[in-house]
Amino acid sequence: MVTSWVLHVDLDQFIAAVEVLRRPGLRGKPVVVGGDGDPGKRGVVSTASYEARAHGVHSGQPLRTARRLCPDAVFLAVDRAAYEAASAQVMGVLRESGAVVEVMGWDEAFLQVDTPDPEAFARLLAERVRERTQLDCSVGREPITSYQFADVSRNTPAGLPNPVASLACSLFWPMPTVQSSWVASRTRRWSPRAKPSGSS
Ligand SMILES: [Mg+2]
Repeated sequence: MVTSWVLHVDLDQFIAAVEVLRRPGLRGKPVVVGGDGDPGKRGVVSTASYEARAHGVHSGQPLRTARRLCPDAVFLAVDRAAYEAASAQVMGVLRESGAVVEVMGWDEAFLQVDTPDPEAFARLLAERVRERTQLDCSVGREPITSYQFADVSRNTPAGLPNPVASLACSLFWPMPTVQSSWVASRTRRWSPRAKPSGSS
């Protein structure tokens, strides 16, 4: 039976991954991206690689704290243009899948798709993203019926342009971050690679 599904695509450590792609020598090293890349100046961590996170570095932390926690980390300046270009490439791949795509940020999107086999669809999607962009992502999935139930229960105004936008707005816009995270975390995840906890 063909069922409608909502897929949640989340790129793994997106900003750090983009930086490592253009500086392959950084692979496997603690990398911290934030501000103008000078940990002696004021500024906050935009993202940290898994290796830096293992030292307690995390997004939103002052760069100086990150340097204290992980003095050997490589600090890089934020390069928005590079992340926007990489993100646009990924979203292009997602749109080519034929799904309705609602972009939620540089590294995140919801897709609505009608398929009898969401796991195969998710796997193919992640493989295509990897082939075309060399970036890894994980894909969560949930039958659309449970989202519609949540939608109705929140008494969302009708008339939004597409179901995914409607769902995304009703689920995420009015809700505190903790609840949004809860929705994302309760979708069953499939990833081409095992990934450490605390990823973004
Ligand atoms: Mg992410």
